[in-house]
Amino acid sequence: MHGLMMNRPLLISSIAEHAARFHGDREIVSVTADNPRHRCTIRDAVGRSRQLANALDKLGLSHGDRIATIAWNDYRHLELYYGISGAGYVCHTINPRLFPEQLIFIINHAEDRWIFTDVMFVPLLEKLLPQIENVEGFVVMTDEAHMPETSLPNVVCYETLIGAESSDYVWPELDERSASALCYTSGTTGDPKGVLYDHRSTVLHAYVAPAPDVMNLSSTDCVLPVVPLFHVNAWGVPYSCLMVGAKIVFPGPKMGDGAALFELLDSENVTMALGVPTVWLALLQYCAGEEKRLDKLKYTLVGGAAVPRSMIEEFRDKHGVELRQGWGMTEMSPLGTCNSIKAGLESLTDDERLDLATKAGRGIFGCELRIVDDDGHELPWDGVAYGALQVRGPWICSDYFKLEGGAGTHTDDGWFDTGDVATIDPQGYMAITDRTKDVIKSGGEWISSIELENAAMGHPAVAEAAVIGVAHPKWTERPLLIIVRAEGQDVSKEDLLAYFRGKVADWWIPNDVAFVEELPHTATGKIKKIELRKQFADYAFPD
Ligand code: AMP
Repeated sequence: MHGLMMNRPLLISSIAEHAARFHGDREIVSVTADNPRHRCTIRDAVGRSRQLANALDKLGLSHGDRIATIAWNDYRHLELYYGISGAGYVCHTINPRLFPEQLIFIINHAEDRWIFTDVMFVPLLEKLLPQIENVEGFVVMTDEAHMPETSLPNVVCYETLIGAESSDYVWPELDERSASALCYTSGTTGDPKGVLYDHRSTVLHAYVAPAPDVMNLSSTDCVLPVVPLFHVNAWGVPYSCLMVGAKIVFPGPKMGDGAALFELLDSENVTMALGVPTVWLALLQYCAGEEKRLDKLKYTLVGGAAVPRSMIEEFRDKHGVELRQGWGMTEMSPLGTCNSIKAGLESLTDDERLDLATKAGRGIFGCELRIVDDDGHELPWDGVAYGALQVRGPWICSDYFKLEGGAGTHTDDGWFDTGDVATIDPQGYMAITDRTKDVIKSGGEWISSIELENAAMGHPAVAEAAVIGVAHPKWTERPLLIIVRAEGQDVSKEDLLAYFRGKVADWWIPNDVAFVEELPHTATGKIKKIELRKQFADYAFPD
């Protein structure tokens, strides 16, 4: 027997309409390339999303078509989130920091029909253009006064495009399982893989994120997402903030700038900020150097990489800010766990609290967790046993876009294998201990060790190459290249590193090279990365 409750679809457009009605006056503040401090209200942004939806409907697109964005965090990008998804299209956010080959792959694989771009990425798109296949036109996200000269074809100015439209729009009543957004991850081996979110998964995730033990958000908060809108929907902030009516401060291109972040946090009375450890390092360094205190900030949610104990301590002791560590993935929308003190642990000493805070946190309702051994048997939650971390839930991907099971990331009984290795303690706190996926995370962005190894193997003096991630104080991890020289060949570190130029993005180039006589191998001839990581456990990069 079914219950007698209304079956209303969970749609992204309904968040926008709720926000405009109940929190219309709440501010959205942005740093943009054409305005150092732009201010508008949620009502304005939702109205402009409706204008955008009207414009998109005139482009001859079909529901489900992908429309790409290459842009920093600001109000126009937020309007795209609502305008594109709300009107029934798929908002495909692209990471501009990727290497051109990856960008071309992603745009073509997604079959993007239009690209909305910030002014500063126009030259990048001009370079990619000859290899881009399906794109019919480009919308530059600025006004006529700031439009750049460009050789791109079919270019439209964003403000002109939406300026011609009415802000009245009736959002389509879509099936809640319709695709809403697409984000590629390069956190696994092989080509980047597309994670296709739907309206239902997005709205459910948006409901849970503001909970007190997660982001602890209400209409009185002001949120600074330093996590990019092109990376897992900025951890869901654009949806959750509008749902509860929190003010948003978008840092635009100023993501890594400690001074600019401090100024925004201070002058806009930000209560909650989100980002990867690397960005907070820049902020903390700035504060220490200038003797500034973060008086207004209450929480930071830090994730995407392991958070150093010293960072949690510095936020707490110097600034009175609670750092909550979160763990998640692009494939998980992204929230999986979040670390806050639970009942019964209040009497922990300061030191014990710090130890606990270095863990990734407790499972959030909606994301089931388990750890399993090599044979797929579940391991105990004793804080000691470690195994492959698997997850299941309504905002976790069931497959990758157009891969139809080909990625091999899902178990037969319906769990997603995260590629992380973890322990879970009796209180339910999960800690990441290792990674089985062969990738390196530097400053929150993925570097493929396999691509680096392939590039190194092209050098005539290299017989065998392996790349591992090694702890780095600023970037969390950086690549170390380990080489077996070809017989009778000599090559210097400098020559090897120079060899990568033009073959991979500059920021992927390893920080150092170690020469060894041989590499450890498995029975099937693969390099034993776990062994190698142990071998180089005490290695530190030269200054
Ligand atoms: P992404 O899909 O780019 O968000 O990356 C997700 C991956 O980042 C996870 O599978 C982990 O390997 C890593 N990660 C995320 N959060 C944490 C954390 N709190 N501690 C350690 N690694 C993390």
